Amino acid sequence: MTDVVTRFAPSPTGYLHIGGARTALFNWLYARGRGGKFLLRIEDTDRARSTPEATAAILKGLDWLGLDHDGEAISQAARAERHAEVALQMLAEGKAYKCFSTQEEIEAFREAAREEKRSTLFQSPWRDADPATHPDAPYAIRLKTPMEGETVIEDQVQGTVRIQNDQLDDMILLRSDGTPVYMLAVVVDDHDMGVTHVIRGDDHLNNAARQMGIYTAMGWPLPVYAHIPLIHGPDGKKLSKRHGALGVEEYQAMGYPAAGMRNYLARLGWSHGDDEFFTDSQAKEWFDLDGIGKAPARLDFKKLEHLCGLHIAQAKDAALLQEIEAYLDASDGATLRPEQRAMLLEGMYCLKERAKTFPELLDKAHFILTDTPIEPEEKAAKNLDTVSRGILGSLTPHLQNASWTRDELEAVLNRFAEDQGTKFGKLAGPMRAALAGRAATPSVFDMMLVLGREETISRLAHAAAGATA
Ligand code: GLU
Repeated sequence: MTDVVTRFAPSPTGYLHIGGARTALFNWLYARGRGGKFLLRIEDTDRARSTPEATAAILKGLDWLGLDHDGEAISQAARAERHAEVALQMLAEGKAYKCFSTQEEIEAFREAAREEKRSTLFQSPWRDADPATHPDAPYAIRLKTPMEGETVIEDQVQGTVRIQNDQLDDMILLRSDGTPVYMLAVVVDDHDMGVTHVIRGDDHLNNAARQMGIYTAMGWPLPVYAHIPLIHGPDGKKLSKRHGALGVEEYQAMGYPAAGMRNYLARLGWSHGDDEFFTDSQAKEWFDLDGIGKAPARLDFKKLEHLCGLHIAQAKDAALLQEIEAYLDASDGATLRPEQRAMLLEGMYCLKERAKTFPELLDKAHFILTDTPIEPEEKAAKNLDTVSRGILGSLTPHLQNASWTRDELEAVLNRFAEDQGTKFGKLAGPMRAALAGRAATPSVFDMMLVLGREETISRLAHAAAGATA
């Protein structure tokens, strides 16, 4: 079998749409799971929309998602000459012809057809004209589409799709100003790039029939087609802005981990048995075209969050820290101080539990990131009344010589609580307020272990000395 080559061919729109990201992911998984190549082509022929910023936004989105492509990104616009060359070759081989019909003539044809209730598909009078009769006038080059028979798309998702050839007009390949049409550009690029599998949105299914006409005329082997249903909103309606975030950069900004996003997007329209949570290597191994559903997948934010939580929980601490730093940098340009970074790494084991997004994780890490001395929030400050402060004050000497392990700290605090005629539970509120300035925090022991003896004692002492409650 020839090596697999897939591609993602976005038109720059200003951002990487979540549907485009899923298309890219499917192509990436298909190629990467088979030792093939995943190529990127920017369909930038609409010069008005194809700004460098719009292209950069797509590259940035792909980069964040970790969907690396092989080789340089190809610019479709830069290949216009090659597209024209192919049209001229078809012309020379009699697979295409010069059409001198003017826009007015075409309109008149359609008008008459409408009145006579015939098909309005334009039939050029120049299709079989003798070149000797050709005027000296501008012309378009049209593909000579077979008038009979059918074009059959053996689609890996949609099944066998038949289109009667008499439903296809002789499409223009090269406009009278010499510019190639989009449909030609796609086929020439896919052919020249050696693309073996075209996996894309099913809004391009009709294009496939026309594109196949060009492959056939050129005698080029057809790619395998897989047209995937579009993504719908949670209500089953076509996805739109009112459903929530559409651009992947919005998901990045909300602090979803890229691995969770990949997992979620892979499951959006594709399944492997009952597997919901999986790693990249499993996805690469399992991904196939058979598993793609025919019905549009619905966005499900709860599921996205759930999967993201699982990915955060099982991520390697150092890698997670790196991703969090990238998140912070992208969101508000914040950088961590070395001691904060060290404490985050130390505490990652408890911070990553049950956090579905980076902001949730960072919220739990408030005790590490907060400024000192701690200014307790209102709710926490209530736990620091005179009695509690007194208790915290008498606790600190017991921590001076305790060995800083969970077991030892638990023993010390339980013994201390007992001596105070109370239970450890009663100490927790004041300790949370002293160590984090908050009422809801990770466990007191986790915080003490991460902060270390010196910082713990300093925060407890500060709270104990506080002037008011
Ligand atoms: N540029 C097209 C799009 O953004 C994709 C074309 C293709 O995949 O063939 O929808």
